Amino acid sequence: MHYIKAKSLLTKWKSMNIYRGCAHGCIYCDSRSECYQINHPFEDIEVKENAPELLENILKTKRNKIMIGTGSMSDPYQPCEKKLMIMRKCLELIDRYEFGASVITKSDLVLRDIDLLDSINQKTKSVLQMSLTVADDKLSRILEPNVCTTTRRYEVMKEFQKRNIPIVVWMTPLLPFLTDTEKNVRTILEYCIDAGVKGIVCFNMGMTLRAGNREYYYKELDKHFPGLSRKYQKLYGNSYEIISPKNEKLMDIFNSTCKKYGIIHTPNECFQYISQMPENKNQLSLFDITSR
Ligand code: SF4
Repeated sequence: MHYIKAKSLLTKWKSMNIYRGCAHGCIYCDSRSECYQINHPFEDIEVKENAPELLENILKTKRNKIMIGTGSMSDPYQPCEKKLMIMRKCLELIDRYEFGASVITKSDLVLRDIDLLDSINQKTKSVLQMSLTVADDKLSRILEPNVCTTTRRYEVMKEFQKRNIPIVVWMTPLLPFLTDTEKNVRTILEYCIDAGVKGIVCFNMGMTLRAGNREYYYKELDKHFPGLSRKYQKLYGNSYEIISPKNEKLMDIFNSTCKKYGIIHTPNECFQYISQMPENKNQLSLFDITSR
């Protein structure tokens, strides 16, 4: 772990990454790709120690209330967050300045901050975005070794459901010949239905591979599933999109189940939902400000 003083925090998509790199060890992680130019070992977490100051400067001066996203590049609930509490400080600011928050994570550490996410949701809106990709916990220990299992993530989702905090699940990536099974997809969908999720992001039944994450993924496949990386190379070469041979059948199951249970399920609908501030709450808070 090492510290830096960052110059800026929010991307043009209104998203922040407090940490760079990730200790969760998912073998398929796209953030390892060379194009992101992480110039330190991926597991050596870079900590933007001044993130709360940068965020407060933005929130103080921004007139329009917006949803602030986090977790698109690195999970904000790194093990070091337990002690550092930078994410918590950022959520306290979002709560105080009455902005919205959406958090992508795989970690049950998010439960520590459920009080703040609840408070934000009551004033404006917060969204828990939980990644579920491997229903089998034994397989999850191999594919996502340093973060809590899918069963535990489901328990976390149930706690958010109790507080009526909206949940969107990222059901991606699905790994060809490992997690692209009907059983895996149906079990994840069952977790989603039971936890009353608002939406599920699923681009297709597949994954992406490019320089940086491809080498790491193949190295891990060789360790745990001998012969599988050769199968990938033969079938996909250097393709960026790695689509499961079962894509069509599994997407049919996904689309029809989501439709049946009223779950939004196209990426566009999901992203629109996540990024939109609720009008009535927003107007109320603008009214509050102008009448002060
Ligand atoms: S939790 Fe996300 S950022 Fe971290 S290793 Fe897994 S996929 Fe990558």
